[in-house]
Amino acid sequence: MQKRNKIYFYNPHKDVEKLQPLIELAEQNDYRMVEQAADANIIISVGGDGAFLQAVRKTGFRQDCLYAGITEKDLSGLYCDFNMDNFDEMLETLQNEELEVRRFPVIDVLVNETSFHCLNELSIRSSIIKTINIDVLIDDLHFETFRGDGLIVSTPTGSTGYSKSTMGAVVDPLLGCYQVSEIASLNNNKYRTLGSSFILGKERMLTLALDEHEKDYPVIGLDNEAYSIQNIKKIKVTLSDKVVKTVKLKNNSYWNRVKRTFL
Ligand code: NAP
Ligand code: MN
Repeated sequence: MQKRNKIYFYNPHKDVEKLQPLIELAEQNDYRMVEQAADANIIISVGGDGAFLQAVRKTGFRQDCLYAGITEKDLSGLYCDFNMDNFDEMLETLQNEELEVRRFPVIDVLVNETSFHCLNELSIRSSIIKTINIDVLIDDLHFETFRGDGLIVSTPTGSTGYSKSTMGAVVDPLLGCYQVSEIASLNNNKYRTLGSSFILGKERMLTLALDEHEKDYPVIGLDNEAYSIQNIKKIKVTLSDKVVKTVKLKNNSYWNRVKRTFL
């Protein structure tokens, strides 16, 4: 097997100076820095969870790479296990032959005819003051007609992000599934939605159909990127075959990180 030693730093803030000691340490340990993400088999984001999401998105959800996130100082994130001070631990972990890899579920999102992957969530929101109207179908069967600000379809790791702010459940990433949450649904005698989040299993397909005749101008969010097109008719969501692989540290389970972040 090819040695996993080619590191690409995804560094949105271009903190080259701060990274220099890390790069030196890595090189002393037989790692090579590469200029192009395509040449790497380890991709490391520098920043917070937002930077990690960007690193995964901009490098195309690579299946042959391990992703890791490092934060500055002792900040931490749901995706970022390392900081500038414990980088040596990261190198040690990477060199360990019994390296454990954690696999995070991803969703596939088809907007009209174009497909995307999301690691956190797909969000669809009205961009005007008026509400947005969305038919929600599960496996092609009409489930509900949503009217309100928008909907969020989150992955298990995305469940601690936007989804959580709408009272969605925190979902263990060992479960291959995705969760649908409402953003301010209208509920009255004319419009009725489930009112709670619901979780779909990996074999399900979710369709969000927009009313073509109404002047809805939705904003589509793919993790932390906005996707703006007009005339969105249909969005289909399924659980992806792809996963995002990261390094698993001892004594640092998903629930440790949830505790560290929220409790
Ligand atoms: P941002 O607006 O700067 O970040 C929102 C916050 O969410 C940041 O503290 C970010 O951490 C954190 N975050 C991101 N992914 C998370 C996750 N999976 N679990 C727990 N916290 C998470 O934007 P951003 O940093 O680019 O992050 C994009 C994400 O923000 C979106 O994917 C969405 O989940 C979330 N978001 C939340 C709301 C809301 O709660 N009302 C609204 C819009 C977007 P860092 O500071 O470490 O980056
Ligand atoms: Mn951020």
